[in-house]
Amino acid sequence: SARRIEGLDKNIWVEITKLVSQHQVVNLGQGFPDFSPPQFVKEAFIRALNSENSLMNQYTRGFGHPPLVNILALFFGKLLGRDINALDEVLVTVGAYEALFCFFQAMVDDGDEVIIIEPFFDCYEMMAQMAGGRPVFIPLQPKPVSGRMVTSADWELDPAELANKFTKRTKAVILNNPNNPLGKVFTRKELELIADLCVKHDVLCLSDEVYEWLVYDGKEHVRIATLPGMWERTVTVGSGGKTFSATGWKVGWAIGPKQVLRHLRTVHQNTVFHCATAAQQAVAEGLTKELECLGKPESYFISLPQELQRKRDRLAASINAAGLKSILPEGGYFLIADVTATRFDLPDSTDPEELYDDKLVKRMITEQGLAAIPVSVFYSAEHKKEFENYIRFCFAKEDSTLSKAEKILQEWK
Ligand code: PMP
Ligand code: GLN
Repeated sequence: SARRIEGLDKNIWVEITKLVSQHQVVNLGQGFPDFSPPQFVKEAFIRALNSENSLMNQYTRGFGHPPLVNILALFFGKLLGRDINALDEVLVTVGAYEALFCFFQAMVDDGDEVIIIEPFFDCYEMMAQMAGGRPVFIPLQPKPVSGRMVTSADWELDPAELANKFTKRTKAVILNNPNNPLGKVFTRKELELIADLCVKHDVLCLSDEVYEWLVYDGKEHVRIATLPGMWERTVTVGSGGKTFSATGWKVGWAIGPKQVLRHLRTVHQNTVFHCATAAQQAVAEGLTKELECLGKPESYFISLPQELQRKRDRLAASINAAGLKSILPEGGYFLIADVTATRFDLPDSTDPEELYDDKLVKRMITEQGLAAIPVSVFYSAEHKKEFENYIRFCFAKEDSTLSKAEKILQEWK
């Protein structure tokens, strides 16, 4: 096989999905809702399929179905406070995942350094490596807290350590805001710190904002592309799947300056070329409706985070009652729990690289019927061991699913 894929064959999602399919589990593992997308986007999808316009079932423009790139330009123009050109500053991709892939392939060259903030969505490391880049990691550190629940805001970057990670070879910083798996929502001040370093060192920023609408407790989601000097160096990535609770549709996008986006288009046209037309049409109609009711109570972008905040609190309470410690997330789909207090004496594994959280999750799936994700997969080899006492739960689930999880957690032994 080609050298570029050496060592990249192991994948947590493949592993966990397989294990989950072999056992009866309450699945709080992989991040997807087990509830339906809103009726208006499902109806738009069906309308597209049944449309008199036979072209709805055929190829559309390769870089994005015109109605979708037009509404993305309009919507993000408003969010980012600038005019966005639908044709050369927006690219529609097969999920946010493909947008990430296009960025790494298009912008990262052999030997380029890519700064990744830990814990991180696992594919950034593999995608950087596949492009020949060298990932450079910086962990968010939990600060000591007593007398209250720890939140994702208590995990912080050390400004001096971050500044030290920038070298002449740094090509890009990868930001995931709100973050998966921690749920951290970066403050304006934290983003300014990152932005100032990007500007100073002339570095790109890949800002993965797939959970942009899922921010809780009245926190503000600040888009790094709006900070001074950042539009011209930022690619903002989003997901129709996360936005409309339809992860199986795999519609994503990249938005950024044309001098960068043109290179992402080159990768897209030489790999995927085209995304499903009807799914793009449905996401376009969904965004059109949401733009009309932006900020109003009837907006899905208001009702979904309200629902999810309630679910987050419910799961956090179940977890804490079981003697584990929730780190309350400020945003996103996930909650990580500190399992130190309940460490089981788990047998040594045949795989010497297997950490406590890996073993615990396997035991939970096979013996307790509850699936979660070991948090060490969201860390580099050098820092994994320090964070092996955390596991990640997805709370974008029906209340009945959360009730089942609660019952299992009550019997946590
Ligand atoms: N980025 C992050 C942080 C994610 O958690 C995910 C998984 N949903 C993706 C990107 C990929 O999104 P999509 O399903 O739209 O490809
Ligand atoms: N983003 C989702 C998660 O973190 C799904 C990951 C995937 O399917 N690669 O669980």
